[in-house]
Amino acid sequence: MKTKLLLVEDEDRLAAVLKTFFEKENFSVETVSDGEDAIFHAESLKPDIILLDWMLPNMSGLEICRQIRSAKDLKKTPIIFLTAKGEEEDKLRGLDTGADDYVTKPFSQMELLARINSLLRRSNPSNLDDQLSYKNTITMNLKTFRVKREGKIVKLNPKEFELLKLFLENPGKVFSRDQLLDKIWGDVNVEARTVDVHIRRLRKNINIKNTKDLIRTVRSSGYSLDIIK
Ligand code: CA
Repeated sequence: MKTKLLLVEDEDRLAAVLKTFFEKENFSVETVSDGEDAIFHAESLKPDIILLDWMLPNMSGLEICRQIRSAKDLKKTPIIFLTAKGEEEDKLRGLDTGADDYVTKPFSQMELLARINSLLRRSNPSNLDDQLSYKNTITMNLKTFRVKREGKIVKLNPKEFELLKLFLENPGKVFSRDQLLDKIWGDVNVEARTVDVHIRRLRKNINIKNTKDLIRTVRSSGYSLDIIK
């Protein structure tokens, strides 16, 4: 299941840029530009996270935040304020109203993503230490040993599980066959070809229908967890 993000922002260009960015990160993004729509969509969509511009026409971000917080189902939905320079004094009032965090424009998208991920982990504390995930598309629960791709359970054998765990702990890092043999098998008598066989099976299992290949083959180097655009 994709993480649902509600973006309340009246600057069309910024809204479009953020929408594109978060959709690439595999969020499902709804954008609205005023308070009434924001409250309506917050209630109907039940987003996992809300990004809320401070300065909006008709209704301020602060008022929107207050109203969202007063809705029964939305008391704990993480809210991040997007404030402009000079509005920073207001941020404390925003946090008072029940917002969880704020970023000051112009902000880096990666920074915003990191804040979001940290809030999502906090709002779902049972997952705090037990869960590894990559771009919201695959998750691994280290307590239950469940692996899910797009919310669907995938079955892995122990070696495939170990391989995926190593990849999830080091997204984007390229591992050579020798490194994988050493880390997963720890046995010099296993042939390098064994790695290829297990990677092939892991790929087949986690790349379910209509999803992108998560494992990149780096010619003559090895493998990494990476979404190929
Ligand atoms: Ca604005």
